[in-house]
Amino acid sequence: MNIHEYQAKEILNAYDIPVPRGRVALTSDQVERAAKMMGGRCVVKAQIYAGGRGKAGGVQLVHHPEQAQELGKELFGRRLVTPQTGPEGLKVRRILVEEAVEISREFYLSITLDRNSSRYCLIASAEGGVEIEEVARRSPEKIHKLTVDPFTGLRPFQARKIALALGLAGGICEDCVQLILNLYKLCQEKDCSLVEINPLVVTKAGWLLAMDAKINFDDNALFRHLEYPDMLDYSQLDPLEITASKFDLSYIKLQGSIGCMVNGAGLAMATLDVLKEFGGEPANFLDVGGGATREKVAEAFKIILQDPDVRGVFVNIFGGIMRCDVIAHGIIEAASEVNCTLPIVVRMDGSQVEEGKQLLAGSGLNVQTADSLGDGAARIVAMLG
Ligand code: GDP
Ligand code: MN
Repeated sequence: MNIHEYQAKEILNAYDIPVPRGRVALTSDQVERAAKMMGGRCVVKAQIYAGGRGKAGGVQLVHHPEQAQELGKELFGRRLVTPQTGPEGLKVRRILVEEAVEISREFYLSITLDRNSSRYCLIASAEGGVEIEEVARRSPEKIHKLTVDPFTGLRPFQARKIALALGLAGGICEDCVQLILNLYKLCQEKDCSLVEINPLVVTKAGWLLAMDAKINFDDNALFRHLEYPDMLDYSQLDPLEITASKFDLSYIKLQGSIGCMVNGAGLAMATLDVLKEFGGEPANFLDVGGGATREKVAEAFKIILQDPDVRGVFVNIFGGIMRCDVIAHGIIEAASEVNCTLPIVVRMDGSQVEEGKQLLAGSGLNVQTADSLGDGAARIVAMLG
């Protein structure tokens, strides 16, 4: 789960990690007032669930409150497109106004889950800032990594090693050690899958400051933090994703034209691969999970049909826990309810498969059934012509 930069900074602050003074604004008048509070010269930062805002004009230094207000007017209601948002961008509904800081050096610092070692991994670089992806590509030796043993936790000597690798010395090095230890504590206690400070800066006045912050919470730990769902900004999510999560379905939007309904993440991956192999482009995939009911299948099907990019639907379900006749009933119910005339290919296998196929054949829908994954993929691609 994602949260905004300003929310991430509130959490950093609670763990004694210094952040710039700032205010969140919901209107351009509030941007102006916040800018006055910061003394006129300030940084205006669009809050979206994506990075790369700086280069897209979403982070700008302004010199007067009126200038801040003008920029606020321009940013609110705009969809900000960055390399991390996809072509449609994300709507700006909140703006963070912060005191401007004179930066002397910019570092990169993050803690993330390393899925290979199943451990938290600390990543740091003395060349932080908006070019970090480029640094990682061109000079990977400038990125320092350290995995943390969950039994011992992050030890001060390890944090010091990282601070020294960043080229820090003396008092500020010790400040950085404490900051890294605090960040690790936060990461663990808040069940984060990512905490990233980019840039972590040394100011001209000689202080360490987290200028940007990104936090992702581990979705599997949400039940331990009942306050997290209230932090969500729904304007940043795909409305279909929100509907899907209400029905406990996982929906992922993609760029093509074929809607995919599958059961199980592994089967979803295989389905996308085989579709591509046959020249099809998935518009999305919706995982109904194991043991779904007829109603759940119907909801899933309706969600897929609401995606305006969908020109055909490919259902690939391995019955076993799920019965194929239940799936067929769900599809027929949903497709009839929304008068769906789009081509549909259903590949199912497992219990009651013949009953399922007969139901579909007699449904009057524009539907074909398939016996194998490859056969199904070929059919839906052919039906779309
Ligand atoms: P991102 O592009 O989405 O990662 O947004 P950031 O919050 O990292 O802002 C982009 C860049 O703007 C930072 O890397 C800094 O170099 C710069 N920046 C942000 N705030 C300030 C500030 O107060 N003073 C100065 N001089 N630069 C800033
Ligand atoms: Mn940044």
